[in-house]
Amino acid sequence: MALSPQKGALGAASRSGGGSASLDERGNVRTNMERFSCTALILSRIDFGESDRILTLLTEERGKLSAFARGARKSRRRFVGVLEPFSLIQANLRSARGALHTLEEASLVDGFDALRRDLGAMSRAAYACELARELCRDHAASPEFFSLLRAFLGGSVDPVELMRFELGALSLSGLRPHLDHCVQCGAADSGSVELDSRFDPERGGRLCGRCARSRGTRISNVTLGVLAALQTGVTEGHGALEAPAWVRAEARAALTGFVVHHMGHRLKSYDFMRDIGLDA
Ligand SMILES: [Zn+2]
Repeated sequence: MALSPQKGALGAASRSGGGSASLDERGNVRTNMERFSCTALILSRIDFGESDRILTLLTEERGKLSAFARGARKSRRRFVGVLEPFSLIQANLRSARGALHTLEEASLVDGFDALRRDLGAMSRAAYACELARELCRDHAASPEFFSLLRAFLGGSVDPVELMRFELGALSLSGLRPHLDHCVQCGAADSGSVELDSRFDPERGGRLCGRCARSRGTRISNVTLGVLAALQTGVTEGHGALEAPAWVRAEARAALTGFVVHHMGHRLKSYDFMRDIGLDA
């Protein structure tokens, strides 16, 4: 007889050292609780009550999930120095059907200490984590997305690397902007020397001058080329890409417009960066 999914789940829970089960009226195994271990990045945390915290985690194995960390603001023993935003942790979690996960134990794998010494890098890390929270769905595992964010946080966390991360994150989420061809007619140029290329988030990216008419905002072909290179080179490591300031500013504006259009609002961490005068 083939194992039912419920029995498979019980097996997994038992192997990981916990869980309880009972039989329903038809004799099928019904699991009430599961314990599992996973590798997770802390996307955000909020205080709860006097001593607890609720964390939003991006796990490698199970995608995004929320976890209750009891005593996280008091306990010196269980979670000290581990549950900081952006940290990579090894987490032991307990889940009960229909309830928030509970974080039972956590150990630090990488605190990404280098980025914590630089306000700009901290702000970009916060932006990347907020974007991940917006783009990732609960309990939908994406090891590629997890790897992308982990690599970004462990890299140079500069403005160009942030754009590389954003382009990769958008692509993995089915929101890949068209950069090297006109969305409408497929032309690889701006239409004519007199016409500029335009960028229109609503239509999915690049428009040539002939198709754009007055839609979108003007963007140089140089900037489109830089963005396209970042987009296609997303898996090729983290070599710094030299781009003049005006190109970076134009690229930043185009990407921000794209994110705002698809999220329906500006990200709070982006506003913070602007408020304190940081180059995103
Ligand atoms: Zn066109």
